[in-house]
Amino acid sequence: MIYLSPPHLNPKANFYLQEALDTNWVAPVGKNLDEFEHAICEYTQAKYALATISGTSAIHLALRLLGVKEGDYVICPSLTFVASVNPVFYQNATPILIDSEEITWNICPKYLEKALDFCKKNNKKVSAIIVVHLYGQPAQMREIKQIADFYGVPIVEDSAEALGSKYKEQYAGTLGDLGIFSFNGNKIITTSGGGMLITNTQEQREKALFLATQAKDNFAYYHHSEIGYNYRLSNVLAGLGRGQMEVLDERINKKREIFDFYVENLSLKDEKIKFQTEIKNTFSNRWLSAGLFSDNIIRDKVLENLKKNQIEARFLWKPLHIMPLFMPLFKDILFFGENNYKNTKKSISEYLFERGLCLPSGTAMTKENLEEIVEMINDEC
Ligand SMILES: *Cc1c(COP(=O)(O)O)cnc(C)c1O
Repeated sequence: MIYLSPPHLNPKANFYLQEALDTNWVAPVGKNLDEFEHAICEYTQAKYALATISGTSAIHLALRLLGVKEGDYVICPSLTFVASVNPVFYQNATPILIDSEEITWNICPKYLEKALDFCKKNNKKVSAIIVVHLYGQPAQMREIKQIADFYGVPIVEDSAEALGSKYKEQYAGTLGDLGIFSFNGNKIITTSGGGMLITNTQEQREKALFLATQAKDNFAYYHHSEIGYNYRLSNVLAGLGRGQMEVLDERINKKREIFDFYVENLSLKDEKIKFQTEIKNTFSNRWLSAGLFSDNIIRDKVLENLKKNQIEARFLWKPLHIMPLFMPLFKDILFFGENNYKNTKKSISEYLFERGLCLPSGTAMTKENLEEIVEMINDEC
């Protein structure tokens, strides 16, 4: 079976994990945690980093740091994994979903501005904008930041899929007020499950650590005055992340080679498949190679043929604004986006969902694997 994006460990990951076991540093404190955070800061030029049990918990901490609370609104793209927005619900705040723009597939600056304008005119407090860099491709950050600054709303960068991606030579995760990474099993590097919160100040990091370790006040006994969480990553698992940071560049190069191979061997065929565009001034880690087929019938046949041959491919994220989870919200607040993109009576995110397919992007794949996959896709196009 060829999976979409399976874990790809290196000997150093094994070594640091084993070392934690051998030295009995198995609790959520120790050298692997310190060194993993240090390596992330060194690589991305982030100021401060805090390792967490997941990317989702890191987003939740970011919202807590920004004081997101009941009655507030948080803006998020519609085309993303539900984990981007679940923490908004944990805080009893209300998400506002924004359509994709057609080039990077990320949050559309035009509709972001419309949403902020609407909220301002209707006295709705927007306390954060969550920006996602889908499949590693950075969003239109210059436009997004200008708009966010104008309305005075902080940005949380969900860079779960974009470790190593850059916008104008600056790393994804460090472009907003707060950022996060994920090290879930399918991400570019993995700690089996894990995440990282990126902050610009030491006070924010300290507050996040406090919240991530049950918010224990500084007393000799157990004393609590705030709601906390058990969100700190184990030192054992941090060893896996520490080890893989040493091969991150190799992994990115391989991901980009895989993407280029698909583009060269697939997209020339009568424009039947198009790929996500790496816009000027951006560098994508190409976490997943995602293509857009000229119609959903070809896309579905390709998926079926790959599946028959034990090869995993997947649809893009299903837009959140058409999920049952969000339906009750629409009595109150809305989705901002196109309603008749290319005469389909659909939004752009729905259009992408109908035609898109994520292709196998595992960094341990061989040239032969890729040739086989390309042949199977071409057979159906
Ligand atoms: C994976 C992912 C997350 C969640 O990360 P976990 O570590 O699985 O909690 C959040 N947002 C996006 C866009 C993701 O792809």
